[in-house]
Amino acid sequence: MLRVIFLGTGGSLPTPERNPAAIMINREGELLLFDCGEGTQQQMMRAKTGMKSLSSIFITHFHADHILGIPGLIQTMSFQGRTEPLKIYGPHHVHEFARILSALGYYKLRFEIDAVDLEPGDVVKRDGYSIHALKTHHSVPSIGYALIEDERVGRFNRERAIELGVPPGPLFSKLHRGEQVEVKGRIILPEEVVGEPRPGRKIVYSGDTRPCQEVLEASRDADLLIHDATLANDQQEWALESMHSTAEEAARLAKEANVSRLILTHISARYSENAEPLLTEAKKVFGNVTIAQDLLETEVVLRDEIGASQK
Ligand SMILES: [Zn+2]
Ligand SMILES: [Zn+2]
Repeated sequence: MLRVIFLGTGGSLPTPERNPAAIMINREGELLLFDCGEGTQQQMMRAKTGMKSLSSIFITHFHADHILGIPGLIQTMSFQGRTEPLKIYGPHHVHEFARILSALGYYKLRFEIDAVDLEPGDVVKRDGYSIHALKTHHSVPSIGYALIEDERVGRFNRERAIELGVPPGPLFSKLHRGEQVEVKGRIILPEEVVGEPRPGRKIVYSGDTRPCQEVLEASRDADLLIHDATLANDQQEWALESMHSTAEEAARLAKEANVSRLILTHISARYSENAEPLLTEAKKVFGNVTIAQDLLETEVVLRDEIGASQK
C-alpha cells in the first residue's frame, strides 16, 4: 500500500476550506508526514490516520505554515503515551527546533525527538524505500523530497520453469530468490525463469519553490509529483517575488519530467474557494492534473499493476 493523504493544501494562511501544508504518506502502514502546518493533528483525526504509526516528519522549510502543527501534535502523542522516538528531518536548524519543542510549555515529552539536518543530495535509507532530499528554490533555506521505493525482483515465469523440468515447490522459491538449482543433472539459472527487476514507485513533493531543474530531474518518470501551485498566471510577478510556482509552471515541469500524475497544492487563499483558474491553466499543458483539497486521499499503484486497479 502506498497512499497519499492531503491533510493541508492551503498556501501560507489557513482558510475555512484549507489547512496549511501537511501531506501524509501511508506506506505499508508506516506513516510519514511531509510538513505539518497548524491544525494538522485535527486533520489526522478527521482522516482517521491515527498517530501511533507516525515514524517521521520531513520539514521542507521553516516558514510557519509548514511547522506550526508540530508542537500540538507531539504534545498529543505524549499524552497518548507514545514512547517510541520520533524522527524529524529538515534543512538546517532541526536540532535547535527540536530543542525548543522539547522545552516549550509546562509538559515533559515521554518520547525522544531524533532531529536530523538534511542537505540536498542526502538520502535517508529505510526498509524497502528511501527518501532523497532535493535542492529547491524558495525565499529561505528549503528542500523537497522524493520517496523512491527499492526495485522489486522480476516476475517468476512458472510455465517456463515447468518446461525446464523444475517441479513446482521449494525450487521455485529458490530460483525466485536468485539461487540456481539442479534438476536431473542440469543447472537452471534464475535468469532463465525470472524477469527483469521491476521498478518501485516514486513520489516527489516539491515543498514551496520556484520551478527548478533539481525538482525536474528528481521527478523524471515519477508516479506522482506533488508541486507548489500557489498562484495563477495573473499573479506571475508575485510568484517570482515570493518564490512560489504558478499552476501552469508546475504543469510544464510535470510534462517535461514525464510524470504519470500531478497534484497541485499550497493553493493561495485567493483561490481557496475556487481553484478553477489554476486547474484550467494547468490542464492546457498537462492532462493528468488534480488540484489537491483537504482530506483528498489517493493510492499510488505499482506501474505493472495499473489496469488491474484504479490509478
Ligand atoms: Zn508555505
Ligand atoms: Zn514558504
